[in-house]
Amino acid sequence: MWEFETDPEFQEKLDWMETFVSEEVELLDALFPNQAFVRPMDPVVAEIIAPMKQKVKDMKLWACHLGPELGGEGYGQVKLALMNQILGRTAWAPMIFGTQAPDTGNAEIIAHYGTEEQKKLYLEPLLSGEIVSCYSMTEPQGGADPRVFTTSAVRDGDEWVINGWKFFSSHARWASFLLVMTVTNPDVPIYRGASMFIVPADTPGVNIERNQALYGHEQMGDGSHALIHYDNVRVPLENMLGSEGEAFAIAQTRLGGGRIHHAMRTVGQATKALDMMVERALSRETAGSILADKQSVQNYIADSYAQITQFRLFVMYVAWRIDTLQDYKAVRHDIAAIKVLTPQVLHDVSQKSLQVHGALGTTDELPLAGMMYGSTIMGLADGPSEVHRLTVAKKLLKDGKPSEGMWPSSWIPGLQEKARKKWAKELEGHEAAQ
Ligand SMILES: Cc1cc2nc3c(=O)[nH]c(=O)nc-3n(C[C@H](O)[C@H](O)[C@H](O)COP(=O)(O)OP(=O)(O)OC[C@H]3O[C@@H](n4cnc5c(N)ncnc54)[C@H](O)[C@@H]3O)c2cc1C
Repeated sequence: MWEFETDPEFQEKLDWMETFVSEEVELLDALFPNQAFVRPMDPVVAEIIAPMKQKVKDMKLWACHLGPELGGEGYGQVKLALMNQILGRTAWAPMIFGTQAPDTGNAEIIAHYGTEEQKKLYLEPLLSGEIVSCYSMTEPQGGADPRVFTTSAVRDGDEWVINGWKFFSSHARWASFLLVMTVTNPDVPIYRGASMFIVPADTPGVNIERNQALYGHEQMGDGSHALIHYDNVRVPLENMLGSEGEAFAIAQTRLGGGRIHHAMRTVGQATKALDMMVERALSRETAGSILADKQSVQNYIADSYAQITQFRLFVMYVAWRIDTLQDYKAVRHDIAAIKVLTPQVLHDVSQKSLQVHGALGTTDELPLAGMMYGSTIMGLADGPSEVHRLTVAKKLLKDGKPSEGMWPSSWIPGLQEKARKKWAKELEGHEAAQ
């Protein structure tokens, strides 16, 4: 059975979200642009957002990516997709709804792999929003290919000693703890030789060397993406997350969910860019008519609508597959395909919308230039598009098979011969009649 309907009870929640996000949360974007992640602990901001968070909790919409055992609602990915399409319109919404990265993914893996003690120490305060966390995997010499990672952890009695450099560890400067991927067995391929550790941020030897800033967001050196030197960092044995050698399985659990959540929010962002394009086309007059009367502008609108709708349906379909199969591995190539589309859709729609807004579109007084830059980031964060394309292609090529003989199986002369054999009797009469 195929259905495209939302149950009416949940639709009421979505309607509430639409109003709340457009009337309250979007104002935060205007008041504190680019700061949703830059100063999460600022007391003034905290005072403004506390009652907003409470409203979300009262509506039973807090941390909806989590199951009920962790304080979420366990709505599943399809409902989460519908919600994220609303949240994606604003940078602040994930913070207000308890779904901000990297804390969401970090919470998921501690919930999945953590001991009772680890959950108590790190997961509980993370879920209640008391603290923020960091995921420290990429290294300065490379992120797309983990085989170049060298940060190591070596066992010394009752402790592990971590040494090495990590790059683009987002939010490290505010984090209470970091999840650090390390090589614990260099003699086997890294996919079996890496282990994950929970490192409290105040452990001696955790040295943030630079806080790199995204272009146009913060001042150089005062950003939220850290270059970290782990210099003889000692953690007790019980700080390993999961088992020795299990870091990549853990990373996959984290990234599978994270990637599709980015895509869900991107549907929201791209839709916002389209809404803005339509409004501008109906409002701006030039060369004797409004922009909406120009055929090229109509083309922009129609193409954007088609592109977003295609993308949205793909995202919803994969969300439904995750809910149905409960297995990220089975949909890995679909999530990778979505990850490839995410920057493309956002780029194409925001670029057209910016074009229709003229010079104003290029300024920091509209979100469109930020969306275009954001689309570039989306093509890198959680792995570059090229690598996701490989995942898709590998799966299809593995499932495919070569043709028998020299000609492709769709070679028409070959098919004609097959057909003639199959209907030889019938064709005898037909050919005689001709
Ligand atoms: C905003 C932002 C936040 C981030 N947050 C975090 C975080 O919190 N924690 C963390 O650990 N990391 C984080 N990252 C890092 C991110 O995961 C890496 O940037 C990503 O994995 C790519 O690694 P790299 O930047 O070293 O690029 P490289 O690995 O050097 O790749 C550069 C380019 O080479 C090409 N390329 C690479 N591999 C292939 C291939 N197999 N085939 C074809 N072409 C290829 C692609 O064009 C790619 O973009 C973040 C990145 C961004 C932009």
